[in-house]
Amino acid sequence: MAYSRAVLSMYDLPMWETIRDRRWSLQRCDKCGQYRYPPAPNCPNCLSFESTWQPLSGRGTILSWVVFHRQYLPEYPAPYNVVAVQLAEGPIVISNLIGEEPQGSWIGRGVRICYEADAEGNLLPKMELAETEA
Ligand SMILES: [Zn+2]
Repeated sequence: MAYSRAVLSMYDLPMWETIRDRRWSLQRCDKCGQYRYPPAPNCPNCLSFESTWQPLSGRGTILSWVVFHRQYLPEYPAPYNVVAVQLAEGPIVISNLIGEEPQGSWIGRGVRICYEADAEGNLLPKMELAETEA
């Protein structure tokens, strides 16, 4: 696995291996059940060091979004969007919405995790609008 531009810690690596397998998983605390993101040695809720990697359901909700019109990195030509998504399991993650540009008041819209390879072939977790809307 390359992920050459990412700085991986011993806690991040297992997560990226699950992403590579298209089964994004996060640590779930064995004591209190809280999902942990980013990966860390102990639970921020109860401080337990015991956890189990659990695949995510793939469901989430847009909390916020923005479209960048200025290019900061060669890998991200403008315009590009960034979405903050609350996963069904609780953690908030930052990603990109694939397929459509966010618009209007899309806060609260359902999304699901999908995967897209970067220029180096590394899979990255992305979001796409869920087919069914409440
Ligand atoms: Zn805990």
